[in-house]
Amino acid sequence: MSKHAFCFIVRMCASSYMNLFVMESEFEELKKIVLKCNACELSKTRNNVVFGDGNPNGKIMCIGEGPGYYEDMSGRAFVGKSGKLLDKIFEASGFSRNEHIFIGNIVKCRPPENRDPKPIERETCLPFLLKQIELIDPKIIILLGATALKGLIDPNASITRLRGSWIEWNGRLVMPTYHPSALLRNPKLKRDVWEDFKAVIDKYREVVDPKHFCKNH
Ligand code: SF4
Repeated sequence: MSKHAFCFIVRMCASSYMNLFVMESEFEELKKIVLKCNACELSKTRNNVVFGDGNPNGKIMCIGEGPGYYEDMSGRAFVGKSGKLLDKIFEASGFSRNEHIFIGNIVKCRPPENRDPKPIERETCLPFLLKQIELIDPKIIILLGATALKGLIDPNASITRLRGSWIEWNGRLVMPTYHPSALLRNPKLKRDVWEDFKAVIDKYREVVDPKHFCKNH
């Protein structure tokens, strides 16, 4: 290898490393700010802010509605029954939070009694989510349920109409599907969600990793 080629590779590696470093420090800075946020009414009743969990370098981002009881108590995203079901769906798809996915919510504090977040709460919290998306830079975004779809894409959108079809949003591919809590209430919806995840697996192979292994698809 020539000296020039060697220097070029060293510069490229150093620049990638610096980008990762900047991204990680910015992500940690953002987290510190969000954990102290009192910008909306939900701050008065929460126990913990739920920033999100998973791999911030993953190429898939999953977005739900807001923390529930267990998430509020633990400060972690999707740890209750819905989260366990979601982890099973990830596993069936060959994905994991540790490697492929970062998971968060439209609002980062629990609405009392798990009511829907109010529009003003969604709008106040949205800049944090948009910054997370910018820093994580996912290729694929999975929206879990109507609140995530309305909060990110269109307040008038219908999850039953749009689930299962790709939406292009700010240069990213977005797949709306049902929230796992809807599957717990109505197990018949599992079939639709598996179809949506099969489409995500196909797209992941197309745009991220052609060798992605999934024993079920
Ligand atoms: Fe801040 Fe979002 Fe929590 Fe409201 S829900 S207090 S905007 S972090």
